[in-house]
Amino acid sequence: MNRAEIVIIGAGSVGLSITRRLSQLKKEIVLLERHSTFGQDTSTRNSEVIHGGMYYPTDSLKTRLCVDGNRMLYEICAKHNIPHRKTGKLIIANTAEEHANIEEIYRQGQINGVPNLRIIEEKEIRKLEPHVQAKWALLSPESGILDATALMGFFEQDALANGASIRYDHEVIGLEKLADAYKVIVRRQNGKIDEITTDIVINAAGLYADKISEMLGLDIQKNRYRIYWVKGEYFDINKRHSGKITHLIYPTPTPVSLGIHVRLRLDGSFALGPNAIYVDEINYDVDPAHVDEFFSDAQEYLPFLEKSDLTPDMAGIRAKLQAEGEPVRDFVIRHEADKGLPGFINLVGIDSPALTACPAIAKEVAEIYRNL
Ligand SMILES: Cc1cc2nc3c(=O)[nH]c(=O)nc-3n(C[C@H](O)[C@H](O)[C@H](O)COP(=O)(O)OP(=O)(O)OC[C@H]3O[C@@H](n4cnc5c(N)ncnc54)[C@H](O)[C@@H]3O)c2cc1C
Repeated sequence: MNRAEIVIIGAGSVGLSITRRLSQLKKEIVLLERHSTFGQDTSTRNSEVIHGGMYYPTDSLKTRLCVDGNRMLYEICAKHNIPHRKTGKLIIANTAEEHANIEEIYRQGQINGVPNLRIIEEKEIRKLEPHVQAKWALLSPESGILDATALMGFFEQDALANGASIRYDHEVIGLEKLADAYKVIVRRQNGKIDEITTDIVINAAGLYADKISEMLGLDIQKNRYRIYWVKGEYFDINKRHSGKITHLIYPTPTPVSLGIHVRLRLDGSFALGPNAIYVDEINYDVDPAHVDEFFSDAQEYLPFLEKSDLTPDMAGIRAKLQAEGEPVRDFVIRHEADKGLPGFINLVGIDSPALTACPAIAKEVAEIYRNL
């Protein structure tokens, strides 16, 4: 088919969730992905945490779509047997400054409508997590973990069952605005070039969303769409400690990241991560020399750890809109009609908590589509 009604670029959690949602409308939908399967960039290289939504400013898309996405994700996981667990999360504090910090997150969470938040003290923390050292903690019972690959597999199969076409090994290398449609130029893995004409283009290209925007002539400096890549590494923890921690354990956050936390897995094992390093290239190697930084951060609240328990695990790369030192930016999700591109729905800067938010992002995009 060289004619489509909707072309979606990028089969990460966001592009797949959008494809599944729009496939319910029974339109001619084509999802294009440059890799040979889904989720090979950021959507499988993260903490797989279902966030509560307490960190982000009120009235931001990040807050609204995270709070809605949290609820929607638990419903989808329960209904379609996607492995997940509502573990709850503790953001811990050991100093007066950190205590003030979790009180601030608590207040923000209340305003954001995150349910059941509580600040708890050492005695209760000990009961919940006997191996964790903390004087105070903000308890978020609605936080949890899920199997992101299984989630994307479900979105893929459901979209296919609804008639969507998903084309792997199809890289978008050009976009052209026609009189009342778009031409999408695609390079297949065998080098063959295809062209697809479509009414609607949806950009869910993650780390490359700025490049896709540029293909349609958008000035990424002027529009502030430049994506900065921020790498996050993880260190695995020796399996002899599996089962010792049952909640997600987070330190107080920094402006670029939520801090090096316990990344719990569904099998009870866990890792530490991610750190946050601005990078110019996509390279998922973990630098073993960073073990000291991870160990000293984690030792403060996981005193049972020994340095030899940590081994390099994996890394992911965040698609951030802010340069180093700049204030945190919100997701950009917009119809670019006012920039001369009617029918182009652009998603840029879709960093954390977009795995949590992906069903709500899809709903938001479906709403934009409905109002075109
Ligand atoms: C270290 C780390 C930890 C995180 N932890 C969490 C967490 O615990 N909870 C949470 O909610 N969020 C978390 N996030 C954020 C979350 O993982 C991402 O926001 C989310 O996965 C983004 O999904 P996406 O579909 O937009 O991007 P991606 O998964 O990157 O998908 C984009 C897709 O577009 C494709 N693509 C790009 N260009 C082209 C092209 N030209 N042609 C065809 N295809 C193209 C790519 O190949 C890719 O498959 C974390 C992120 C990182 C890096």
